[in-house]
Amino acid sequence: MMQQPFFDCHAHTADLSYCCDPGITPQTYADALAAHPEVAGFVITNHGFAAYFPAEIAWKAEFMRRPELFTAFRQYGNARLERHLATLAAVGEPRVLPGMEVEMMYDGRLTLDDKFRPRLAAVIGSVHFLPGVDPKVMPPQQVLDIWWDHTQSLAATGIDILAHPFRWIHKNGGVTVTMEMVHALVELARRNAVALEINAHFSIPGDVDLVRACAQAGVAVAFGTDSHSVSEIGRFEYHQSVLRGAGLPPGALTIWAPKRRP
Ligand SMILES: [Zn+2]
Ligand SMILES: [Zn+2]
Repeated sequence: MMQQPFFDCHAHTADLSYCCDPGITPQTYADALAAHPEVAGFVITNHGFAAYFPAEIAWKAEFMRRPELFTAFRQYGNARLERHLATLAAVGEPRVLPGMEVEMMYDGRLTLDDKFRPRLAAVIGSVHFLPGVDPKVMPPQQVLDIWWDHTQSLAATGIDILAHPFRWIHKNGGVTVTMEMVHALVELARRNAVALEINAHFSIPGDVDLVRACAQAGVAVAFGTDSHSVSEIGRFEYHQSVLRGAGLPPGALTIWAPKRRP
């Protein structure tokens, strides 16, 4: 099944994401649209933790356990985000849309001031850090349970998309994704009306199963390049290969596109 053009739900710029190649701006994505007619648009989704915290705090991930840090840096982050949104708006390309990639801190708040939500085409929720959860000293089932509890709570925060939903448990948690986990995740997404991302930046075995299960349950799949470098921008080869692997008939799968156009 080939469906084009795709909307990229997940892309970074250098002003707000420390891990992004320097020089990538919203204008880079506007220029990429001219070079990639097969791309419907981009949602620019920088890390909430990078917008709200200076690098030395952001990467230690202490804010997860100490959400009062978010309160302390709220004004700092809001000002940075305002500047970013102004830069993005100045590009004047209606297919390059503002979004954010957020964490859920351990008090249940997202790393984004709620007041920005109506101005964003998508809020995508991710698990990058679970400080205090150490697969080297904890039994795998305990690691799995804590990650799953966190993921369930994150899905219920009003986010639009769960980004790279199995990345942490696969890469950091050392747990192999099973069909049982795929079905539980898809049911969670269905209950909370969130889309599930297929992420090309770090692919996970089981994405084909995930797409098939989403089609069966009527859950939307969102395609993210998670671009951090120019070479990733506008590239959907991985997503195409997952679609081919899933072998679904045309129209069987809902592919996410932004409903809100701020
Ligand atoms: Zn991420
Ligand atoms: Zn990302």
